[in-house]
Amino acid sequence: MRTQLDIQNNYLLKGHSTIRIGGVCSHFAEASNENSIMEALEYAYSKNKKVHVIGAGSNVLIGENPDTFVLKMVMRDVEVIGEKIIAKAGVYLPTISRIALCHGLTGFEWASAIPGTIGGAAIMNAGAYDTEFFDKVEAVTGIDMNGNKKTIPRSDIETSHRSSNIHPENFIVTEVSILLQKGDIGKIEKKMLEYTSYRKRTQPKGLTLGSTFMQSFDFTRGTGVSAGYYIDQCGLKGFTVGGASFSKIHANFIMNQGGGTFSDVLDLMEQAYYRVQEKFGVKLRPEVKILADSLLTRKFVSN
Ligand SMILES: Cc1cc2nc3c(=O)[nH]c(=O)nc-3n(C[C@H](O)[C@H](O)[C@H](O)COP(=O)(O)OP(=O)(O)OC[C@H]3O[C@@H](n4cnc5c(N)ncnc54)[C@H](O)[C@@H]3O)c2cc1C
Repeated sequence: MRTQLDIQNNYLLKGHSTIRIGGVCSHFAEASNENSIMEALEYAYSKNKKVHVIGAGSNVLIGENPDTFVLKMVMRDVEVIGEKIIAKAGVYLPTISRIALCHGLTGFEWASAIPGTIGGAAIMNAGAYDTEFFDKVEAVTGIDMNGNKKTIPRSDIETSHRSSNIHPENFIVTEVSILLQKGDIGKIEKKMLEYTSYRKRTQPKGLTLGSTFMQSFDFTRGTGVSAGYYIDQCGLKGFTVGGASFSKIHANFIMNQGGGTFSDVLDLMEQAYYRVQEKFGVKLRPEVKILADSLLTRKFVSN
């Protein structure tokens, strides 16, 4: 089949995840518009491969994917109409925060230092400082795996902590419409700077996917408890397997110290999962998404 897409075979994905770990996928291409998505879907179908989309790879742990066509979203157009921002899926979250600032729009300051894209944030229901992505979303547009285009209004989207009912296995997000409010530029900028400097103080620098596990809900206390608290209490801060460790600064961050592998990270996650379960009776839920064709031996991963 002839294609406009630059499709790479047996492609190493390491460079497309912020933790710089990643195996080989059967095919890889970058989608800069809807036509390239359609082409990728047709090509993958003709080769009997699945399609899996990634954005900035800031939340995805990548293993071996011999049966998967990985499509990276690089659609990066943004339009501002009054208080509405319409962004293509590959636009980075901090870009939207800065555009909102320039237009005196408030409501997206929380995302000013999160290294993901709009498409990834829609799948993850990304959030920080008591704000979630879908708090400000009007609609999500995308393409299903049969090539049908669809716009989903916010009212049809179910969300929970770091999750929504839009799943990458059956829907490729192409565009999100975000509705903000007019605000004071000085106050917006101040908030963004505060958030950024808070991150610099509390989060480690280096190769990571951010939070490994989601926070858990403590029914006796009626509050969320960070996974980092449990991991720390199990003595796992700084714990290392091969080339990967739990950060000494933030126990819920796994760092690639150089040469870390997919299985080093899974081993660390497994250690945390079983030790926290044993000590606290709490089942940690992975926040990072795992992209690998086979995970047969890792029963604790349910996402
Ligand atoms: C240092 C650091 C700090 C972080 N801090 C935060 C934080 O404060 N809050 C927070 O919520 N997250 C945080 N994250 C995690 C991450 O940045 C967010 O979850 C982000 O929204 C993921 O976007 P992405 O483009 O990197 O997605 P990816 O990692 O590329 O993908 C994540 C998931 O989304 C799917 N996906 C991506 N794009 C699309 C698309 N267009 N259509 C369909 N599916 C798609 C992928 O298949 C995968 O399942 C942090 C990460 C790092 C490294």
